[in-house]
Amino acid sequence: MWKRILIANRGEIALRIIRCCREMGIETVVVYSKEDEDTLPVLMAGKSICIGKAKASETYLNQDILIDCAKKTFCQAIHPGYGFLSENAKFAKKCEENGIVFIGPDYRIIEKMGNKQAARELMIAHGVPVVPGGEGLADTFEKALEDAGRIGFPVLIKASAGGGGKGMRKVYREEELEQAYLSARQEAKAAFGNDDVYVEKLILNPRHIEFQILADKYGNVIHLGERDCSIQKRNQKLVEESPSVALDENLRKEMGEMAIKAAKAAGYDSAGTIEFILDERRDFYFIEMNTRIQVEHPVTEMLTGIDLIREQIRSAHGRKLSLTQEQVSFDGHVIECRINAETSGLVKMLHFPSGYGVRTDSYLYNGCTISPYYDSMIAKVIVKGSNRLEAIRRMRRSLEELIIEGIQTNEGIMHLLMFHKNFVKGDYNTHFWEEHSETLLQWNREGNADDQ
Ligand code: ADP
Repeated sequence: MWKRILIANRGEIALRIIRCCREMGIETVVVYSKEDEDTLPVLMAGKSICIGKAKASETYLNQDILIDCAKKTFCQAIHPGYGFLSENAKFAKKCEENGIVFIGPDYRIIEKMGNKQAARELMIAHGVPVVPGGEGLADTFEKALEDAGRIGFPVLIKASAGGGGKGMRKVYREEELEQAYLSARQEAKAAFGNDDVYVEKLILNPRHIEFQILADKYGNVIHLGERDCSIQKRNQKLVEESPSVALDENLRKEMGEMAIKAAKAAGYDSAGTIEFILDERRDFYFIEMNTRIQVEHPVTEMLTGIDLIREQIRSAHGRKLSLTQEQVSFDGHVIECRINAETSGLVKMLHFPSGYGVRTDSYLYNGCTISPYYDSMIAKVIVKGSNRLEAIRRMRRSLEELIIEGIQTNEGIMHLLMFHKNFVKGDYNTHFWEEHSETLLQWNREGNADDQ
């Protein structure tokens, strides 16, 4: 195994990787911005290098500095975490050219799957179901109109280079198409420097179901079950759980096999995620592949007992997968809540939940400061129960134990969400937040979660 790796990230994921490396006997180097000077990853890594003031473009996204730091400190590999450069094919290529292993898939795969339209075509060619859509890109408005006409409204305009819901527009009527088409292109251009868009059917009331994949460089691919990530606020996931109440054994098996097929079609060789949407008739469609470790990976770790970061590092190093599909087992029910900061500043008092079946992944400590510069996600509370209701009850009591004073967070709302009858029944889809957030906010104002 490698002696030392560089972590090109910050916050909870940098800490998660440091912890894993320590257990594997790998030394760590983290790079950081001055803004992050007093954060836990910087204090806990074997070595920490300050690479700039605050701006992500000058620090965590600065490819040349990162490679330079890795070389100077004799790191043999770079772990990119999620976000930042984790799905940047150019950076992965640059690592390779400099004799440093990028801990993720081959850069050609990142490139291929980073283009949603190309990924879609690849899936079609391999018999993986995709959302009904236009043929190729909608490079003119006339083509978008023709595609939409063929598919039938409502449709979704999507940016090929898209991510985080950017460059995406729902269109319910033909009259709205032109405006939506132009603004989607504009937004995509600004966010990704690429304004390619395409049209697909807007699936009504879908659930977002994704499968965790593990693969090695020898063609072995397994899946570690699904995560239901339908509770999203403006395309940002808030709650993830596994197993999904929307799947039965047959559908789980079918989707799992399709996820493996999709990963094989991509020639995949690392930890990754195949995202599907599931419609009301329980038909499912591939929407995209994420070629990195995801925020919600602990859900799968708690359910299967498999350390995904460890497997990802081993695979990048050229080790074979340490288990077969038959050896993967799923135990109980896991729920994760993301805790987001709504303001920045000093954390005056902090207490994390613990006890049986509870895990908190975070980089906060008493007296730390939350920076306004980066991702607002500051903690993930993950609980496991022997069944779903037990997990929900454990999450309620965990969020009751969680104390973050000095800044505002969504903690109260997440706690109330665990009491909402639709959530408790498992009766939800990606519109849950739009439909029910007002109720949750009202309960929050009234300070009452009883008997819901
Ligand atoms: P991004 O990469 O920008 O996050 P995705 O393709 O993953 O974009 O889609 C983000 C979210 O949008 C999904 O989680 C899903 O809820 C919704 N979505 C995507 N495609 C469709 C579709 N065809 N119909 C309905 N909802 C969709």
